[in-house]
Parts: sequence; structure tokens; C-alpha cells
Amino acid sequence: MENTTQKKLKRRTKNIKKEHIFKKYSFEITIVSMISLGLFLLLENFELKFLIKQFFITFYEEIKEILKIIFGRFISKILKIESSDIFGISLLIFAFILLFLKWRHNLIIKNSVIDKCPKCSNKIHRIKRKKRIKILSYIIRLKVKHYHCHICKLRMYNIKGI
Ligand SMILES: [Zn+2]
Repeated sequence: MENTTQKKLKRRTKNIKKEHIFKKYSFEITIVSMISLGLFLLLENFELKFLIKQFFITFYEEIKEILKIIFGRFISKILKIESSDIFGISLLIFAFILLFLKWRHNLIIKNSVIDKCPKCSNKIHRIKRKKRIKILSYIIRLKVKHYHCHICKLRMYNIKGI
């Protein structure tokens, strides 16, 4: 009797662990599946189901018309690629945007509470940022402050969203 209940308990904890892993990596799983679907659509000449295909073709045609008006002949030549390619490319772009936002969010979470040296807990002093950091932080809309610890010489950034 004891053995079976122990086994059941073990199995239950295993299931909880599995669920936990899925929750923890759900973002990554979504990204990977989007990238795979995007790549699949790009590599395989995948025929989409009629309705979906029709929807995206109309959508794509509309976009193409608008772009044609805006950018003229040059863009229309480039756009002579298949609609499933457009779908694949859009998925890839969307996945990369999500990845970028996740990376930016993690940067803020990890670096927004720095008010003393993380290594020796001493006072930190603000120093000048490098030019490329200035430009990058402006582009990705982050408030970045550069600090230096006089005691252990550690340099660190305080990063907040704008
Ligand atoms: Zn220090």
C-alpha cells in the first residue's frame, strides 16, 4: 500500500515539475514555434488552407497596393515574392520583436534597482556614458545611467524604461 501511494506522490510531483517547466519556458516555446512556423513557410512551399490563404492574399494585396502607391515601382518589384513568404517573414519579424521586448524587459528588471555597488556594497558614483550607449539607449527608449565604484573599480549601469 505504502509503495503505491509513494509512487503516486512521486508521479504527482513529476507532473507539477513538468507544468512548472512549461510555464517557465512558455515564452521561449511560443517564440521557437513561431520561428519554426515562419521558417517552415519560407522553406517549404507550403499551401495554406483555402480560407487562411485567401485572407492573407487579400491582406497582402491590400498592403501591396498601399505600398505601391507610397513607394512606387521599386517596392512592387521586390514584392513579387509569394504570399506565404510574406507570412513567414512577418512571423519571423514578429518573433524577433517579441524577443527584443523580452530582452529589454529583462534588462530593466535586472538593472533598475542598483543604488550601491553589488560587489562591495559601497557608494557608487555616476560617470559619463559612452557615445554608443547614449545612441542605443535613445533608440530602444531606455534611461541608462553609468556608475563606477571607487573601492572595487566595478562599473555598472542603472537601466530604466522611458
Ligand atoms: Zn564596489
